[in-house]
Amino acid sequence: MSDFDLIVIGAGPGGYEAALHAAELGMKTAVIEMDRVGGTCLNRGCVPTKALLHSSGVFRSVREGTPGVLAENVRCDVEAIFAEKDRITETLSGGVEGLLKKAKVTLIRGRARITAPGTVEAGGSAYTADRILIATGSVPVMPPIPGLDLPGVMSSNELLKGTDHVYESIVIIGGGVIGVELATFYADLGSRVTIVEGLDRLLPNMDKELGQNLGLLMKKRGVTVHTGAMVERVSKTDGGLTVSFSSKKGPESAEAEAVLCAIGRRPYFDGLFAEGLEPGTCGRSIKVDERFETGIPGIYAIGDVSSKVQLAHVAAAQGIACVDMMAGRESDVDLSLVPSCIYSRPEIAVAGLTEAEAQEKGIAVKTGKCVMGGNARTLIADPGRSFMKLVAHADTGKLAGAQLMCENATDMISELTQAIANGLTARDLLRGMRPHPTFEEAMTEALLNLVSKLGN
Ligand code: FAD
Repeated sequence: MSDFDLIVIGAGPGGYEAALHAAELGMKTAVIEMDRVGGTCLNRGCVPTKALLHSSGVFRSVREGTPGVLAENVRCDVEAIFAEKDRITETLSGGVEGLLKKAKVTLIRGRARITAPGTVEAGGSAYTADRILIATGSVPVMPPIPGLDLPGVMSSNELLKGTDHVYESIVIIGGGVIGVELATFYADLGSRVTIVEGLDRLLPNMDKELGQNLGLLMKKRGVTVHTGAMVERVSKTDGGLTVSFSSKKGPESAEAEAVLCAIGRRPYFDGLFAEGLEPGTCGRSIKVDERFETGIPGIYAIGDVSSKVQLAHVAAAQGIACVDMMAGRESDVDLSLVPSCIYSRPEIAVAGLTEAEAQEKGIAVKTGKCVMGGNARTLIADPGRSFMKLVAHADTGKLAGAQLMCENATDMISELTQAIANGLTARDLLRGMRPHPTFEEAMTEALLNLVSKLGN
């Protein structure tokens, strides 16, 4: 008999949610973790960045004030900001450990290595299990660009550890989600921020209008944005670090005290498999089938290590679905529909299809839009250009996608995700009133605009 029904490797959001769910379903479960419980998300990702953005947002609001509210001599203590981030992440990590303990999940400390199907070694001991679930996540990619190993050049892992002063200037290589969020943090604190993005706009994987508008807003806030710009090297100069890049304009450079490389993350399973064990790969990820099983029977993988989309809620949903399938249960969640959020100012949140994606796929759609200049709460909060765009199937009126750029977008996207997942039409979404004054009233406007175009 095995030591456990299930051994989960990695206690990030994918791993710990899977373990808790397995225990709930009565499986004797262990989790092996080589670092702090909570994974990238709690310790080096989602939560620390949002904690920092909260502090920097408060600093910016107080410093900028609002007509009639003036604050003088406002200053920020960046060490205290990072200490508060640490307090929050430690509290949450401890909370997850408490949940695992309460659910009677065995937490094993150490680096796991799968030595045979059904056998894992960690911390000098070997453990057996009927099934193994790999949830080892991802790590930052540092491309082979000369100079990325210089002191002062960081990945998000190093940057999030903190500094004793606010950088006077920072160049951020990569204008994706991580780059944009950390650019917002440093811009709020008053650093001179430069973003260098290789593709033609910020957030290149999202609806064009979002990246273009965000680029304009960031420029308005003093962030220098170079798009279509390929970084060639980083060098040490008298002024600090110089990032050299080429764009349509020719060779260019940006100087800064610090450089953040935020060009992406790669699945992490270095040294996990003993020689001779081949799980199968797809690009740099572990390849899995529709039941999350790898090429080795009884070994499964979920989350960043095997998923095309690297998000905490995707890892958690996959972990729960995978355990459900192991237990012969049907999963409730639609894993193909992924909401995605950016905690910029204003916030951005998307789900489902964009109009361009629908066109590429030959799906007939109509779109409805509300530009929120006339929305009372938006006028009061003044976050900059804000809008909501909704996409619906032209024949049925069922909602197919949503792109929001406005205050509270990251909370409001859930309502629209539920609508898409449950096949609700634009008219269904008009049935309930939305209270006044709220940001959400703009959704009614966008829906009315959509219904007028659908004509049904
Ligand atoms: P991870 O969270 O990476 O956890 C993997 C765990 O496995 C780690 O704890 C690691 O120590 C452990 N491990 C690895 N190998 C071994 C081994 N051999 N033995 C034992 N343990 C091992 N996502 C969002 O949804 N929203 C956000 O706002 C967001 N913001 C982010 C901001 C930043 C700066 C970054 C870097 C990421 C962000 N993400 C965000 C992405 C999110 O953090 C990841 O998608 C998520 O953490 C993936 O979860 P996971 O469980 O697959 O892996």
